[in-house]
Amino acid sequence: MADLATDIQYIKGVGEARAKGMAKLGIQTLRDLVSFFPRAYEDRTVIKPISLAVPDETVCIRAMAAAAPRLSHIRKGLDLVKVRVVDEGGAMDITFFNQSFVKDAIKPGEVYVFYGKVAGTARRPEMTNPVFERETTRNVTGRIMPVYRLTAGLSQNILAGAARQGLEACGEALPDYLPEAVREGYKLAQARYAYENIHFPLSFEALEIARRRLIFEELFIISAAMGVIRKIRTVKPGRGLKDADMDVFYAALPFTLTGAQKRSIEQAVSDMKRPTPMNRLVQGDVGSGKTVVAAACCWFTWKSGCQSAFMAPTEILAEQHYRSLSALLEPLGIQVGLLTGSMTPKQKKTVQGQLRLGELDVIIGTHALLSEGVEFFDLALVVTDEQHRFGVGQRSALTAKGDSPHVLVMSATPIPRTLALIIYGDLDVSVIDELPPGRQKVETYTAGEKLRQRTYNFMRKLVGEGRQVYVVCPMVEESETADADLKSAQEYAARLQQEIFPDLRVALVHGRMKPKEKERVMSAFAAGQTDILVATTVIEVGVDVPNAALMVVENADRFGLSQLHQLRGRVGRGEHQSYCILFEGAGGEVSRERLKIMCSTNDGFKISEEDLKLRGPGDFFGSRQHGLPEMHIASLAADMDVLTTAQAAASEVLKADPALSRPANKAMKERIDTLFELRANTLN
Ligand code: ADP
Ligand code: MG
Repeated sequence: MADLATDIQYIKGVGEARAKGMAKLGIQTLRDLVSFFPRAYEDRTVIKPISLAVPDETVCIRAMAAAAPRLSHIRKGLDLVKVRVVDEGGAMDITFFNQSFVKDAIKPGEVYVFYGKVAGTARRPEMTNPVFERETTRNVTGRIMPVYRLTAGLSQNILAGAARQGLEACGEALPDYLPEAVREGYKLAQARYAYENIHFPLSFEALEIARRRLIFEELFIISAAMGVIRKIRTVKPGRGLKDADMDVFYAALPFTLTGAQKRSIEQAVSDMKRPTPMNRLVQGDVGSGKTVVAAACCWFTWKSGCQSAFMAPTEILAEQHYRSLSALLEPLGIQVGLLTGSMTPKQKKTVQGQLRLGELDVIIGTHALLSEGVEFFDLALVVTDEQHRFGVGQRSALTAKGDSPHVLVMSATPIPRTLALIIYGDLDVSVIDELPPGRQKVETYTAGEKLRQRTYNFMRKLVGEGRQVYVVCPMVEESETADADLKSAQEYAARLQQEIFPDLRVALVHGRMKPKEKERVMSAFAAGQTDILVATTVIEVGVDVPNAALMVVENADRFGLSQLHQLRGRVGRGEHQSYCILFEGAGGEVSRERLKIMCSTNDGFKISEEDLKLRGPGDFFGSRQHGLPEMHIASLAADMDVLTTAQAAASEVLKADPALSRPANKAMKERIDTLFELRANTLN
C-alpha cells in the first residue's frame, strides 16, 4: 500500500520516461494519477456476430484466426499484416499497418476479440488496426474503456495501465474526504468504488454513480472551504447602521425600480443593519441598473451620518458614475465628490481635505482612492464596480481606510451562478435578473466581407437619422500583437474618415491614450459631437451613451462571447432600436457557430454559460484572477444541481462542527487545509 504522495515513477509500469510525459499532464504523485479522470469513454461492451456488423459501426467481434497472418513489406516504412478471421456466421479480413508484431501475436485456430470500426461492405466486411486480445483476458475489449487526455509519448493503453496500477497501489489509502454521515445521507458511493468505476466502469450505471459521488465530493469540499472563509470573516465585528425608511429614497428616483433592484437593495440594507460587515456581490447583466442599487446603499449610509466610497476601474467610468450619482443624491442633500489620477495635485488636495473633515459624504474615484493621502472622517461603505478588474488586494486596501466598513461589489460580468457561488463563495450574492421595462432587444447579425459595403450604407443611414455608431477593433493590451493591433485601428479610423465617410465625424479612442485625451474623446461622443467612434476595448465596461444605436465589431472571433456581450451592452440603452453587427474575421467554422449564439440571445447569463462550456472556467477571465482550485470533474455549467445539494451538505456539517474538529470530519478538514494552501498561492 503506497502513500498518495508517492512519486509516480515508482509505480509499477510507469518508470522515469513515462513519468516525464505524465508530468506534462499534471500527474506527479499517486494522488494525481488516480485523480486524472478520463475525458470520455469508449463503449466496447457490444460484441456482434460478423454477419450483423454494419460498415461504419465500431464494435467488438469474437472470431477465430482462420490461418496464420501474412506479413508483407510494401515499401520502406510500410508493413502490412493481413489475417482472415471467422465466426459461426461470417468471415472478416483484418489489416494491420506497421504492426508487424501481430504476425506472431495472432495464432491460427485461436479465438480473439477485435474492437474496431467496420469497413468494406456488408458482404465483405473488413477492419483496420483494431484493438485485439485473447477472448479470455478481457482487459481492453468487452468493457467500457477510459479515454484520457494525451500528450506526446503516451498512449491510451499506457495511461489506462498506469491508472490500473495506481488504483492497485493505493489499496486502502484511497482518500474518502466525505464524512460517513454525509456519504450515507446523500446516498453516495464509497471512494474506492467511485475511483475504480470512474476509470474502469463496470457499466454505464456504475459510471454515473461514480461520477455523481466525485462531483459531489469536489463541490462539497470547495463549498465547505468557502464556508470556513465566511466564518472567519463574520467573526470580525463591523458596525450596524441605523434603520431608515427606504421609501424616501425610492420616491426621489426618476423611475420605478424593478422588483430585482428592490430586492437587491433590501438585501444589502438588511446586511448593513447587522453588526457584522456586509460582503455582498450584486450581479446583474449590462443595463440591469446596478448603479442605483449602489446609490441606495450610499443614501442609507449617509442617513447614519457615515461616508461611502465608490471605486470604478477607469476614469471614464468614475466620471460617469460621478455624474449619475450626484444627479441622484445631491438633490437629497448629499455631498458627492470625485477623485481620479488625472486631477491636478491641488484639486486632489482639496478633495482629500473634504474627505478627512467629513465634508463629503460620497466619494467616487479610481485607484486614486487607494493612495496614501486619502483618509476618511468615517467610512462605513465601500462599493467597487466591475469587480473582476480589481484584485482582492485592492478591495481590501480600500476597506482598510475604514473601521471594517460594509462592502458592496458590483459585477456586470454575467458569471453563471455556479461559478459565482464558487468564486465569490465568501460573498453573499444578489442577482438582478430583470431589466428595466421597455428595453429593446439589440438586433444582432454576423457578417462576412461581402456585407461590408452594406454595413457602411447602414451606418450612414443611422447617422442620417441622428444616431451614433461604435466600431470596435480587437486589441489585447498585453499581447505581442498589441502594437500591430493599435496601428491597424488607427489606420482603419483614418480610412473611415478620409475615404468612406469624409462628410461625417469619425474619432478614435484607445487604451494607450492619456486619460485626459481619452476623456475628451469620450465626452465629445457622449455630447453627440462625434458620429462614429472607432474604439479598442476601452469602451467595454459601463459606458452609457443612449443615442448610440449601432455597434460594429471587427474580427469578432477574437473576442470571448461574454466580452462581446459586454460590448453589445453599449447600445440599446435608449429608446432607439439598436443593432450589433459582428464581422467574422478569419476564425472559421467554429467561431461562426460561436458567434451565432450572440444572434440568438441577449441574455448574458445564457451567453456566459455557453462561453464557459466552450472555454472552460480556467479561461473565463484568467484563472489567476479567480484563484479557483482546479476542478477535476465537476463541470460548472452542467452540475448546478449537485452544487446546491453539496452546499447544503457542507453547511450542515459546518453548523454541527464549526471547527471541523470531530474525528468524522478529519479527512475533510485536511483536504480543505490543502485547498487553502493552493488558494493562498494562486491569489498572490
Ligand atoms: P448597469 O447595471 O449596466 O450598471 P446602469 O446602472 O448603468 O446599468 O443603468 C442603465 C440605465 O438604466 C441607466 O441609464 C439608468 O438610469 C437606467 N435605469 C436603471 N434602473 C431603471 C429602472 N428601474 N427603470 C428605468 N430605467 C432604469
Ligand atoms: Mg454599470
